[in-house]
Amino acid sequence: MLENQKSVEAYKESVNLMPGGVNSPVRAFKSVGMNPIYMEYGKGSKIYDIDGNEYIDYVLSWGPLILGHADDRVVSKLKETTEKGTSFGAPTLLENELAQLVIDRVPSIEMVRMVNSGTEATMSALRLARGYTGKNKILKFEGNYHGHGDSLLIKAGSGVATLGLPDSPGVPESVAQHTITVPYNDIESVRYAFEQFGDDIAAVIVEPVSGNMGVVPPNQDFLKSLRDITNQQESLLIFDEVMTGFRVGYHCAQGHFEVTPDLTCLGKVIGGGLPVGAYGGKREIMERIAPVGDIYQAGTLSGNPLAMTAGLETLKAMDRAAYDEISKKVDRLVEGYRLAADKHNVSLQINRAGSMVGVFFAEEPVVNYETAANSDTEAFATYYQTMAEEGIFLPPSQFEGLFLSIAHTDEDIEKTIEAAEKAFEKLS
Ligand code: PMP
Repeated sequence: MLENQKSVEAYKESVNLMPGGVNSPVRAFKSVGMNPIYMEYGKGSKIYDIDGNEYIDYVLSWGPLILGHADDRVVSKLKETTEKGTSFGAPTLLENELAQLVIDRVPSIEMVRMVNSGTEATMSALRLARGYTGKNKILKFEGNYHGHGDSLLIKAGSGVATLGLPDSPGVPESVAQHTITVPYNDIESVRYAFEQFGDDIAAVIVEPVSGNMGVVPPNQDFLKSLRDITNQQESLLIFDEVMTGFRVGYHCAQGHFEVTPDLTCLGKVIGGGLPVGAYGGKREIMERIAPVGDIYQAGTLSGNPLAMTAGLETLKAMDRAAYDEISKKVDRLVEGYRLAADKHNVSLQINRAGSMVGVFFAEEPVVNYETAANSDTEAFATYYQTMAEEGIFLPPSQFEGLFLSIAHTDEDIEKTIEAAEKAFEKLS
């Protein structure tokens, strides 16, 4: 049993202070039937809870910490920046530097606007797509999560899937009616939607690798077909790379799959653990944003110097060799899991893309929301609890991917595989 009395006490206090005791739903650990674990500090691949337990961390703040916790380069630059003041409400050179780096590395981005979260990035990109095309509807995919903007909280994944809320009260029908949802990886449904509503579809928004129903990569040609259809129909193609951006590869998912969208949303890794989002794309489209254009979007803390610093240091450290290094570690982890599952006759589906890994207790390959939803959540809860007891901190839901960082050592990976084997033994 995990010794976590202090976390139990902390949770009792939190539930009276915040809805569900948390500031973001998945942190309540509901789907794995555990008390939330309260964290105190992290270093490298390790995270430490308030009871003094050490874990190898595969949550990494839900993706941003690709260098691991409290990377020395990030921390030292953050100290320097902090001493000069934390926000000015006026431009800084740091913003130019991060913007240039993003433009150099993301094939679709010729101009970028920084915001404070992934949600803001997708909401703003949609407003831009609607304003630019003069059309109203958007097409999204079941189980793709794009933050909690009204138009996007429809058949979303992530916490929404975990808690079984396909839609949220508070989203007006008049807004929801402009969102069309179709199954992921199903290009025929996309064609059908365009036959029905084609002249009013402003944009198709997609996670180029879906990371919010577990990890589900695109089928061959899925993204290319989306590109062709949106080109033909004069709709914009938006890649939501909040999770995949600078994680799936050096040039993001779009570089990896060689499909260039019109607009791209970023977050997580570009903030290196501080609150950042961004959206960018073709110059002609981005120049419709205020103050140069007529589509409004703003932010008091957007381009904040601390966030820019953490993002810059993170992206600079992630050269091509760093991506290759993480990839090798993921290969070993996946291989170890497969062997352990086979040994104990556990039906496991593992999907991966770059350093995102999805582990499903399922018989059939997971290719969309429907197949992900068939997974055995009870088996996942047993696995989860065993892993936590063995000192492995995983996202507390089968519908979330796990992440690796360059700080994860070979020893971490071997320890994780051994723990998984113990969990699979219990399940067999
Ligand atoms: N898009 C995707 C693909 C995401 O994974 C997330 C968050 N997990 C978001 C958007 C929303 O980002 P944030 O939580 O920073 O608002």
